[in-house]
Amino acid sequence: MVTVSYSVKAVINEYGEIVGDTITVSDGRVSAITFGAYPSYATRRVMDGYILPGFVDAHLHIAGLGLALTGVDLRGARDPWEVAEALSGASGPIAYGRGWDQESFRTEKRYPTRKELDSAVPDRPALAVRVCGHVAVANSVALATARPWEVYPDLVDKDKGILLEDAVGYTLEKLLENTDLTGIVGVALEALARAGIAGVASLSCTPAEARALRDLESQGHLKLRVSCYPEPPKLSQVLEIGSGRRWRVTGVKIFADGSLGARTAYLREPYSDDPGNRGLRLLDAGRIRDAVEYAASRRLRTAVHAIGDAALDEVIEAFESSGLPCDTYCRVEHASVAWPGQVKRLAELRAYVVVQPHFRVSDWWIDKRLGPHRLAAVYPFATMLRSGVKLAVSTDAPVEPYQPWETFKAAVGRCGQPACRSEESLKPHEVIEAYTIRAAEASGGPAAALGTLRRGAPAALSYTPTNPLKEDWEGPLRLIYHEI
Ligand SMILES: [Zn+2]
Repeated sequence: MVTVSYSVKAVINEYGEIVGDTITVSDGRVSAITFGAYPSYATRRVMDGYILPGFVDAHLHIAGLGLALTGVDLRGARDPWEVAEALSGASGPIAYGRGWDQESFRTEKRYPTRKELDSAVPDRPALAVRVCGHVAVANSVALATARPWEVYPDLVDKDKGILLEDAVGYTLEKLLENTDLTGIVGVALEALARAGIAGVASLSCTPAEARALRDLESQGHLKLRVSCYPEPPKLSQVLEIGSGRRWRVTGVKIFADGSLGARTAYLREPYSDDPGNRGLRLLDAGRIRDAVEYAASRRLRTAVHAIGDAALDEVIEAFESSGLPCDTYCRVEHASVAWPGQVKRLAELRAYVVVQPHFRVSDWWIDKRLGPHRLAAVYPFATMLRSGVKLAVSTDAPVEPYQPWETFKAAVGRCGQPACRSEESLKPHEVIEAYTIRAAEASGGPAAALGTLRRGAPAALSYTPTNPLKEDWEGPLRLIYHEI
């Protein structure tokens, strides 16, 4: 039996309570938490910091994060050839980069072309996304692999390799589908472990991502626990790949609306900066209920993306009319605009609400989109907790930073944006609870065993040298991993 005792400044449990200063781990499981005492046969390690349960990110995108981490930053490129040249240095099976802007090119202020990319990256797919994300250039291999013109004929210039709007995301998705993602997924998981994350729910998980998880586990390289949520069209393909000890399909992801940034989140009242537009209702309550009931019949939970208040109305109605035990089957993703009446119904349903505190930082324009009268309903974290909502924290990485301390800062209100209202900010111990036990419960599947220090829990612990019970906590956090 391998037994290790860590003596630290404090052992902090999933509710942010100091429960000891020594934690003992035996054979990969938490065996005791004490003040001072440790078994004589234990290997003792003394560390000058704090141990918490392994953090869980209840909503992110592993392959997307891996691509963002391995991709090239093209913001400094000074002409089209530099974009191509920089891409040739990208590691991994896809030469991916983002950030070029022809306005800052020195001489020719034009988009790079397919031919320029071909000359630098002739033998694997290359994609260079403009700083805005709405324009990209692809090389010939990427175009031939993804064939985006078949779906978006008006958004693709085959000759120049230019892709616009939806053709950008579509091409990227197709490239990822046809690529061995083991390296990219491995990079993402390694970065997450270095940031103290023990488990995740990967939303919109694809067959290629599931294959990578399967292969990493068979090679003994899968430390994190991953609960996968494919979208319904990919569900059977991902299920066919199987499951492992640390990864499994746990639910499905569906979209009730779009985003506030694109003014496609579905609102009760029109956008303040776009009168007449209430956004998009992608699914009504009946369709959502059908999806939730189908998933539940296969013992899967449903994570419903709902950003606008009108989308949330549809989701709540669907959950209520399904009559399913929502603490097992229902998740709402984002719930960015939520009024007290809606919050109350979500609490009564016992549905998990999976929020991204860092959106408060990124949505700096939110008062213009929604008007001052609606700010009271934006990211109402404290109201949710006070009302008894099961609140889980996440990052949506790579949309937002994956590091927990960045999310912590935004959640406690250290962000100085209109959405960062102090009355809706959380206390440090509340963030810890939402980032550990609640996020583990909301993720379900393999990640559900994490986020706690109770006896017998997997010993995937988070360690930080500085006090995470203080509002000015800056991190860092890293994983101490003993799980077998
Ligand atoms: Zn997401």
